[in-house]
Order: sequence, then C-alpha cells, then structure tokens
Amino acid sequence: MSGETNIKERVIIFDTTLRDAEQSPGASLNISEKVEIAHQLARLRVDVIEAGYPVSSTVQFEAVRRISEEVIGPVITGLARTVAKDIDVAAEALQGAQKKRIHTFTSTSPEHMEYMLRMKPEEVLTKAAEAVKYAAGFTEDVEFSCQDATRSDVGFLREIIQAAIEAGATTVNIPDTVGYAIPETFGALIADLRESVPGLKDVIVSTHCHNDLGLATANSLAGVINGARQVECTINGLGERAGNASLEEVVMAIRTRKDLFGIDTGINTPEIYRSSQMVTRLMGIPVQPNKAIVGENAFAHESGIHVDGLLKHRSTYEIMTPESVGVRSKIVVGRHSGRHGFKVRCEELGFELNEEQLTVVYTKFMELADKKKEVFDEDIVALLDDELADIPETFHLEYMHCSSGTGTLPSATVRIVRGEEILQEAAWGDGPVDAAFQAISKATEMDLELENYNIRAVTHSSEALGEAVLRIRQGDKTYGGRGVSTDIIEASAKAYISALNHFMARGNGGGH
Ligand SMILES: [Zn+2]
Repeated sequence: MSGETNIKERVIIFDTTLRDAEQSPGASLNISEKVEIAHQLARLRVDVIEAGYPVSSTVQFEAVRRISEEVIGPVITGLARTVAKDIDVAAEALQGAQKKRIHTFTSTSPEHMEYMLRMKPEEVLTKAAEAVKYAAGFTEDVEFSCQDATRSDVGFLREIIQAAIEAGATTVNIPDTVGYAIPETFGALIADLRESVPGLKDVIVSTHCHNDLGLATANSLAGVINGARQVECTINGLGERAGNASLEEVVMAIRTRKDLFGIDTGINTPEIYRSSQMVTRLMGIPVQPNKAIVGENAFAHESGIHVDGLLKHRSTYEIMTPESVGVRSKIVVGRHSGRHGFKVRCEELGFELNEEQLTVVYTKFMELADKKKEVFDEDIVALLDDELADIPETFHLEYMHCSSGTGTLPSATVRIVRGEEILQEAAWGDGPVDAAFQAISKATEMDLELENYNIRAVTHSSEALGEAVLRIRQGDKTYGGRGVSTDIIEASAKAYISALNHFMARGNGGGH
C-alpha cells in the first residue's frame, strides 16, 4: 500500500457498519440506503469502508459494487471466506473502486475449526495462505482475519498469521468475535503476537472487538496501546448481538486522551453526530439516551446551565465540546431567516438541496416555524430526513383523525393514497396510537407484527417535534420506519406508513 509509513502514524478507522452491523437482527438496509451511509462515512473520513459480504446475496454484491463506483476517498473492502469463489465475487464487486481491499477470513479457534469449518488446523492454514495469495492477485491491499482469535491457540495463531503475511496480507486482524476478552488479556495478546510473529513488523495489526461484556471499546483501545494501528468499529456501536466497538467512542477516546495514546485518527469528528443520526434513522435502531458521545443526554448538563454561565463552566464539566462531535442544538432559525438563510443552514448541516427539494422542505419549515417559536437544527434535520428519504412512497398518509378520552373507546380514521387509489378505514384500539395502526393495517390490507416502538421529543420544549421510530416484522425480516410531527400520534402513523413503504420497497408488494 502506498503511503504506508504515513498511515502507521495514525490509527486507521475501518468502519463495518454496512457489514457487521447490517447483518445484525432487525437492521437490514436497501442498496440506496447503504450508498447514502457510505457517502456519509466518506464525509466522516473513515479510512476503510467494509461495504458488505458480496458472495452472500445479490443485494450485498450490488451494494458493494455501487459503493465502489460512487464513493470516493476511503478504501472500499468486501468480505470473503478463504475460498476462491468468495474472492472472485468480492473482486468483481470491488472492481470500480479507486482504492480496494479484499478482506478474507477464516476461523482459528478449536471450537470453530472443529464444529464450523470441520477442518484440521493444517488444512485451515493451507487454505488461508492460498486464499490470501489468490486475493493478492486482484489487489495489493489484502486483509486477513482470524475469526475467534481470542479463543484460539496462540501457537497456531502465530503460524497462520506468519503464513498469511508471507502470502501477501498487508493487514492482519485479531478479532474478539465472541466478546470474550478483557482489556489486559486482549492487549497482552496483541503485544505477544507483535513480538513473536516476525512478519507483523511490516503490516498493520487490526482489532475487531465485540461488546458482549461491554468491553468492545476498552479492548480496542488496549489493542491500540499495544501497537494495533487499525480499529474495526461501527456507528452507534451496532453489530451482531451486543454490538461492535463504537466508532465514536474509540475515536473520541483517542482524541481526548492524545496525551496517553500519542497518536490520532483521521476522523472528521464534527460529522460524528450526523452519521449517528443517519444510521439511527435508516436502520431504525434508536440510540440509548445515555450512550457515550452520541446519546441524547451525552452533553445534556448544558441545558441546566444559563447561557452566560456556560462558558465559565464548560471546562469544569466537559472533557470535549458538543461542537467537536457535531452536536449544535443551540442554533435557532425562524421565519425571519428567509429562504436563503434556511438554504445556507441546510448546507451547513450537510444537505445539498436542489431548487425543487428546497421548495418542498422550505414550505414544511415555514409550517413548522408557525407551530413552534424556535426551530432547532434537530428539527431541520428531522424534516430533511423525512422529505429526502430515498424510499418510494407506495402509501401516503393524506388524512388522519383520532379520538380518545376518558370513558370513550379510542378510534382512528385514516385516508391513505396509493397511486390512483384512495384507501379509507376506521378502527378501534387500546389507545389512539393502536387505533391508528389498526386503521392503517385495515386500509392497506397489510398485517405485519409491530416489533418495537419508541417515541421521543426531538427538541426540548412543549412545542417539540415528536419522533416515532418503530420496526415491523414479517417472518424473520423486519422493516424500520420513522415519522416526525408536532403531534405524537401523527408521528407514529407516519412511522408505521414509512415502515410499510420500506417493506414494499424490498419487493414485498405481492403483485405490485
Ligand atoms: Zn464482528
């Protein structure tokens, strides 16, 4: 890889939101959503985007292919087992990328080799070396991963890593696949391998830690302290089971404690918050309010302090500023801002609007400005997200009326437009939201199971915008939806409709 000496002076951030997190339960994305996230990851300046696992499905292949062609800046990589077919398919998907990497992996623990691969260690090693060599024929940037490394025999790890490097691997990843390590043991493993495997001196050592014991970030940082120069991580710490190392935590820990690490990442940290918001919206998985860096309360002590006291108090309570991660809730625009002022603010928030989109969103903004005195950035982002979502609108909620109160049975009437058709229904429910969902199900003739449902205020005042995020399930697949409105029942109905539109967009529309 060119610029190797430069790159070793910082920690490479390898984002696997689109692969590891996307494979986690309930987090499926369509291709255009993946491309949208990949563009945001490029703005965030991650070094490597793992765009998918091309051989696993046509959607995965197509996503990797489109990201390779459209997203400029980061190295694009695709996952492949140590078999020729996987590598062929990954190489084909990555063809259009300016910088491409093939990431091939095998399992190295006794459990995995015996029960999953059903191979003897020698066979695993031979196939790994062959696969790396084969991948190196397509690109000089090849990563090799030893799945379940933390439960593997260290002697065998040393052998297989050396063989992979001799075959052409330029990055060697040591995953804590099952989240079993603790920082001391993980750091010691990285140090041991770097000392005992001669080839590791010339390649990048990488970590990939899962969060089953809540230690993914801590283990990744222990890896860095012991010489790892790539961290694999995801936005919001999403990933299989309890998740992966959280990108925002790893990056901000390294930056905030540069005194300790003596090294930094190349991440454009003011893009962190928006990346988190985008992934929340598109995957439909909300962030816990007390989540480090990107949770709603991560900088919340601010709200209790008077503006004039804030500056004096900041350093006493804050180890980093909200602005450094892109949280800027204090900016207010209103009617007085005008169309131009609104456009400028949208651009500052990272949204490029054409005239047509601007007209639509500006009209919505003025409606909101009439309902609310102050419009915050979060409100604008919520509006834009809502309007610019790249999902075909099979169903559009045209009208909704709910009635509920003490002593009455909650009911809802909805009118939904589908192409030329007008679908209208009324229903009862356990509460107004339930009644609205029932009415929508009847009108659309879609009966999907509601898997989870969250509502929250986007900004803090009684006139706040309400945001509803939910998931609906059919069989083993789930579909996310999000809706925003000053009325919480309407936000919920919009979220339900948007989940149905996701469902339809994935080719589930029966004859349609
Ligand atoms: Zn993983």
